Amino acid sequence: MPERVHNFFAGPATLPYEVVKKAAAGMVNFKDSGMSVMEVSHRSGPFESMFKEAQNDMLGIMGLTPEEYVVLFLGGGASMQFCQVPFNFLSQDQTADYIVTGGWAKKAYKEAKLFGKVNAAASSEDTNFSYVPTKFSLTPGAAYVHTTSNNTLVGTQMRHFPETGAVPLVCDMSSDFLSRELDYGKFSLIYAGAQKNIGPAGVTAVILRKSWVEKAKTDIPTMMAYSTHIKEESLFNTPPALPVYVVGLMMKWIMEQGGLKAVEKNNDRKAAILYSCIDDSDGYYKGTVTDPDSRSLMNVCFRLPSEELEAKFVNDAKKADLIGLKGHRSVGGCRASIYNAMTIEGVEALVDFMKKFRAAN
Ligand code: PMP
Repeated sequence: MPERVHNFFAGPATLPYEVVKKAAAGMVNFKDSGMSVMEVSHRSGPFESMFKEAQNDMLGIMGLTPEEYVVLFLGGGASMQFCQVPFNFLSQDQTADYIVTGGWAKKAYKEAKLFGKVNAAASSEDTNFSYVPTKFSLTPGAAYVHTTSNNTLVGTQMRHFPETGAVPLVCDMSSDFLSRELDYGKFSLIYAGAQKNIGPAGVTAVILRKSWVEKAKTDIPTMMAYSTHIKEESLFNTPPALPVYVVGLMMKWIMEQGGLKAVEKNNDRKAAILYSCIDDSDGYYKGTVTDPDSRSLMNVCFRLPSEELEAKFVNDAKKADLIGLKGHRSVGGCRASIYNAMTIEGVEALVDFMKKFRAAN
């Protein structure tokens, strides 16, 4: 294996090489403390300042203010948010609206049913989630509306979020977090597992509108209450220290790129290169998303003429140092995940391989 391959895994996923190398240095000697970031107390000055900086940088990148919003770094994965959101915000006599656009959205929807009434305000399950609905039947006075901005398994992305008025809008942004410019201020709660766009596995970023949390349920376990973590500035218990450190480095990296505008431009370009290769292949490669406006810029899913060819494609690609192209086990086919850190060169290498593979097979 060479020192670095082109990594198309869906998450954990590729990180910028310079961030990996910086993280490696901090792993040995964190801020000149003579201790690695894995060894330093989370109550020590250098750690706390790094932690705060990561939170502030994240808010700054999103154009949000610390007066209105707070960033928590929690454990339990994005999957824990499937229950933590309704734990805090859905009572038995209330209804929450869920937009069901993929396997992960469906899991969130299922979990919420344990807490109150749940309405599927839109669903594309009838077509195996091959598009993102744009029409929603929202419940007046709902507790909140839950959306999933990018559907990792099927390769769709939401471009038109529901207009919810006074009803709080929640979004699972795990697989496209900080990949594009958005009006982040329209959301009352955003959560994202770090392991795709902003760092390693082990930490989930939760961005909350403080005024909404003031209205949350109080008769819930201490660790589940967002208010517990807000009160202690996300240091109620020992945080996922090492992952947060890398997330902090990733925030600096995004700012160095020129913020979300530059990151989005790069992501647009990469996706255009890859989708053109698929669309210009005379049907050899078939994109699985039926609606062009629903295509994900993060997870590009496609099929080949047969499952045998798909297996060969994935294996031959591996030999060319293009790793992680097998589709999720629940949907099959192939998937190239091209998150923020994937380089243009990586996408070009993939496209070059796809053309050669098609010619040879
Ligand atoms: N939501 C989405 C959109 C995801 O892609 C994933 C993970 N692939 C999850 C939630 C679950 O994340 P975790 O494994 O961190 O619980």
